[in-house]
Amino acid sequence: MTEAREYQSLYRKWRPQRFADVVHQEYTVRTLQNAILSHQIAHAYLLAGPRGVGKTSIARIFAKAINCTHPQQGEPCNQCDMCKKITRGNALDVIEIDGASNRGIDQIRQLREEVNFVPAEARYKVYIIDEVHMLTNEAFNALLKTLEEPPKHVVFLFATTEPHKVPLTILSRCQAFELKLLPPERIEKRLKEICEAEQINASPKVLMAISYRARGALRDAIVMLEQLASYKGATRIEEQDLYEIMGLASEETVTGFLKALLMRQGRTALEIIADLADRGKDLELFVDELIEQTRDWIIHALDGQPMPVETRLETLIGLSTQLLALKRELGRAWEKRILLEMKALELTHSALEQGAPAPATPHEPEAKASKGRAVKRTPVGREGVLKDPVPPDRWAQVLEEVKRDRRSTVHALLLDAQLVELPDTVRIEYDPQHSFHKESLEKHRKYLEEVIARAYGPRRVEIAFASATESPARRKSKSAEVREKAELLKKAFDGEILE
Ligand SMILES: [Zn+2]
Repeated sequence: MTEAREYQSLYRKWRPQRFADVVHQEYTVRTLQNAILSHQIAHAYLLAGPRGVGKTSIARIFAKAINCTHPQQGEPCNQCDMCKKITRGNALDVIEIDGASNRGIDQIRQLREEVNFVPAEARYKVYIIDEVHMLTNEAFNALLKTLEEPPKHVVFLFATTEPHKVPLTILSRCQAFELKLLPPERIEKRLKEICEAEQINASPKVLMAISYRARGALRDAIVMLEQLASYKGATRIEEQDLYEIMGLASEETVTGFLKALLMRQGRTALEIIADLADRGKDLELFVDELIEQTRDWIIHALDGQPMPVETRLETLIGLSTQLLALKRELGRAWEKRILLEMKALELTHSALEQGAPAPATPHEPEAKASKGRAVKRTPVGREGVLKDPVPPDRWAQVLEEVKRDRRSTVHALLLDAQLVELPDTVRIEYDPQHSFHKESLEKHRKYLEEVIARAYGPRRVEIAFASATESPARRKSKSAEVREKAELLKKAFDGEILE
């Protein structure tokens, strides 16, 4: 049989094939190896732990070690036919099932039919079920029947990132192991070995940076290294490449942004966001980095070490809570940049104390009397009324509810609009050059109608362009627009009224 020679990724190439090659899971590895040496093999094992730390690799090594024809001290030889077949993934008796796939249920059904047959060629029939917590109830029930009376020659190896979702009835029949995230030093050491063997020219600084960014998942670190290596070819990989190629913000940017938040420099924060957006950086990754950095500072503070910026522990904890909430929102948001900008301004203008969430409404001094002439692009949230005087608190209620529902994007969009209240219609107007805002708000129409109906009673909701005479459209550069928005939002939060 000829095998197609396909490109093998670094990760697959460097996947551990022996227990000794597994990094940082010593306890699990030693216990499994001892079980093999003492011929006390359980029927079911559960390997729980975060992604990328070696769960399925360990399961495969175990499958090899118990089926190897020439095992050595509980290790597979990796030379015999059995070992080779298992490594290639075509051993008849080592069956891998992905619990997250739709095929899972069929495969479990098939498992129930086949499980009682003796192995075709190996000593043990091994079922490796990845992401076992994802199995359907039906599949769990089928599995449980097998686990209650397991045939002698069968071993189950379950892997999961979420052990708490595995039914107790299954858990109680497993010997469970908890795999750990790798500390950066272990990842770095492994990356060095790989670089030496593969003749990858990477600066020590870049390896350290990858090791930290991988956040404990060796697989992620190797994938990052490979991306950088394939991009740079034989050229030396420097730390800067990591930021450029992986879309990451540099450490200075991260700390600079956090300092701006803590020192309440909203403008600086917005400038950093604009710069990141212009350079095509991934804003979600950026928020991840902010969270990590804040966490580091909190740990520093707990250890009584000096802070890079004058602040209190409570403030940092508050910031951390806010950033985590932002991360959840960002994942769903279509316009990540506006959301991030909003949050930055909120944080620079609201009290960051005691880990408490920001107040439901930004501090909102009573709207001062408008200066008479029709105001363009006035934040509706502060003025309430522009053309048709009505009590301002209905619109304030809308904004408050939007805020409370954590619909930050809608909130941001509304702040950039002009409000026109007519007897049976609430019209939300945008300057013609903000067609993007208008389209964006349309996507939230259903939600908006509900909120408006609660505040105003039944009303038609129009999302429209302001008439051209009122809003002479003029082109603006991107950064000018950002500056303008920053100005606007800042004033909104300060409660000032635009000219
Ligand atoms: Zn072998």
